Amino acid sequence: MDFLPQNIEDYIVEHSQKEPELLGKLNRETHQKILQPRMLSGHYQGRVLSLLSKIIKPHTILEIGTYTGYSALSLAEGLSQNGILHTIDINEELFDFQKKYFEASPYKKNIRQYLGNAVEIIPQIEDNFDLVFIDADKPNYPTYFNIIIEKMNPGGVILSDNVLWSGKIVEDVKPDDVSTAALLEYNKMLATDERIETVILPIRDGLTLSRKK
Ligand code: SAH
Ligand code: CA
Repeated sequence: MDFLPQNIEDYIVEHSQKEPELLGKLNRETHQKILQPRMLSGHYQGRVLSLLSKIIKPHTILEIGTYTGYSALSLAEGLSQNGILHTIDINEELFDFQKKYFEASPYKKNIRQYLGNAVEIIPQIEDNFDLVFIDADKPNYPTYFNIIIEKMNPGGVILSDNVLWSGKIVEDVKPDDVSTAALLEYNKMLATDERIETVILPIRDGLTLSRKK
């Protein structure tokens, strides 16, 4: 769900950086061939991720939830020279699609693709991180935070996507809605954890910016 009126959304996109050509192609091919294309970050959020990454200039990035690779390629634009982006997805059907686009990009040497459950894979990655993008299964968000917080470099940034969950975080939670319940717990965790500084940005479906002290 978008929180802004369509004409305001359109104005914002028109007055933001253009979508790079390869990402436009990835965007279109995802919509043609892949289930649930709404999960893709898309033009505007992709440019937000790119610019934040360029400001941070991370040496190591971790992405949890690759999908078709749109956000990975956007974040990779800010990597410092010889930087590494680790990206994890559990869905094996997406692997070759991701690979095709990573290899067509200028970042093929910088991206490490992992297939499997992020809860199991993250502890096996030896790097510490300057930037983490959390965008996989919502029930695991609190677990992801607990695993990565000790692996964040000082000043490192955690971006968490979909934290407003189409506005469900301010509605009554249905008994079987584990995603909303987990996000409520997660948002509270981030707002109160003494190790980080946090603001929620009302970008798209809600994007939290947290900085490790
Ligand atoms: N970051 C992408 C969108 C990610 S959609 C973008 O912005 O374009 C969420 C992805 O998380 C899906 O592709 C799904 O397969 C993956 N996912 C779900 N549970 C996971 C888990 N436990 N470990 C790793 N990936 C998972
Ligand atoms: Ca998302």
